[in-house]
Amino acid sequence: LSRFFLLKNVLILQDEGYQEVSILVNDGVIQAIQPVAASQVEPTPDLPIVDGQHKLLLPGFVNGHTHSSQMWQRGLIEPLPLELWLANLIDSSPQELEQIYWGALSTAVETLKSGGTCLTDHLTLLPGRELESVAAVVRAYRQVGIRALIAPLVQDQPLGAGLPGRLPTPPQTQTAAEVLQLIETIVQEFHDPASGISIGVGPTGFHRCSDALLTGSAELSQRYGLCRHTHLLETRMQHKLAQEKYGGSAVQHLHKLGFLNNQTSLAHCVWLEPADLPLLAETGATVVHNPVSNLRLGSGIAPILDCLAAGVNVAFGCDGAASNDGQDLLEAIKLGTMLHNITDPDYRHWITPRRAIQLAVSGGAQGVGLADQIGKLAVGYSADFVLYNLPQSLLAQTDLIQFLVYAKPAQTVERVWVKGQLLVEAGNVLTVEPEQVTQLFPKRDQAHRFQFDTIRSLESHYRKVALPESEDL
Ligand SMILES: [Zn+2]
Repeated sequence: LSRFFLLKNVLILQDEGYQEVSILVNDGVIQAIQPVAASQVEPTPDLPIVDGQHKLLLPGFVNGHTHSSQMWQRGLIEPLPLELWLANLIDSSPQELEQIYWGALSTAVETLKSGGTCLTDHLTLLPGRELESVAAVVRAYRQVGIRALIAPLVQDQPLGAGLPGRLPTPPQTQTAAEVLQLIETIVQEFHDPASGISIGVGPTGFHRCSDALLTGSAELSQRYGLCRHTHLLETRMQHKLAQEKYGGSAVQHLHKLGFLNNQTSLAHCVWLEPADLPLLAETGATVVHNPVSNLRLGSGIAPILDCLAAGVNVAFGCDGAASNDGQDLLEAIKLGTMLHNITDPDYRHWITPRRAIQLAVSGGAQGVGLADQIGKLAVGYSADFVLYNLPQSLLAQTDLIQFLVYAKPAQTVERVWVKGQLLVEAGNVLTVEPEQVTQLFPKRDQAHRFQFDTIRSLESHYRKVALPESEDL
């Protein structure tokens, strides 16, 4: 697979409209971008040429938040709010390393096929086989060739602690110090940013983490120069819990603990308070918008227009496949673009398709700490980009970006490169055998049937705190 080629006559976005250019890639990096009319690049016989005529080239999207092992739980969990859905998620989690590997492999494949070249995997670890779990997903991402920020999902407080109203639950077995030691070992073994695989610190969220774990995570990431990633205010219950735990805003609390900086990305942020926004903007933290998951779990509509107005960096995510139930970035972008039109009657505030693409691309790059390497078609940037074939758009005066975002045409992703390496051609991922994606499925009649028991220990308490008006507890 060549990392040296000329991409000819391709359409790229300008500040307004489009331009036809040729792009020279050498050693995985963009070396020249020239308008076709004035092209200086003389093709030599050994220079491979890719014809981009009538096709659109965009930098790769970043899937700013997912949990790869949830690929095993697609279409599995009934409609429930996050806190109860989580109970069923835990009861149906995969237990085998081979499943962890496959989850990452298929997450990477779907990300590439929907225009993504990088993802943040907030990775669930198998208890007792934590290092092997990370090794399995690293193996998958290296095989596929996608960029990945892997943030092992950790906490030091039990499931019930994530609900307001002080539900008595058995204590968590791991202390903050033990969790931090584990993360440090994972960092020493697997953090390899030059190769495209980075480790981040990923405390689940303030709702299940002690201050010791959050400050320890911030210190650890400072020491090794790592990204930070966490869930934040995904549900109304978490907002209520923050009042109970801290007597105020969870964002202010994270800031006090030194957790927020320009390498911090925060998944969901549905229940932010107006006073949180300037703080997020000042610290340079990224809000990762997961509109599909937020609807699936009834979490709410994140105040993305307010975030943008306050100057907060915003990226898109799919969230795990148990609350989506796919990994289609173009779908997340389409929904996340239109959803906010119903939250503000002033259409001048609405997210345009161009703006949405910019968030998915450069907003995402900033969220994973790579704004100086990816997210831009510019000389010196890595050749992480996607070629879209949009034949229907040639029929009329269609705007290509509006067509891509709103129409979300099927099978529009033709080729994908990461670091100049061709990973997708004619819509097929070149680095994975098609049968590799299906070989692990057991037959339906032999499949293990899950016992959803954990929900019973939470549901009546949940109804009491979340639905106090309901007579039916
Ligand atoms: Zn999540």
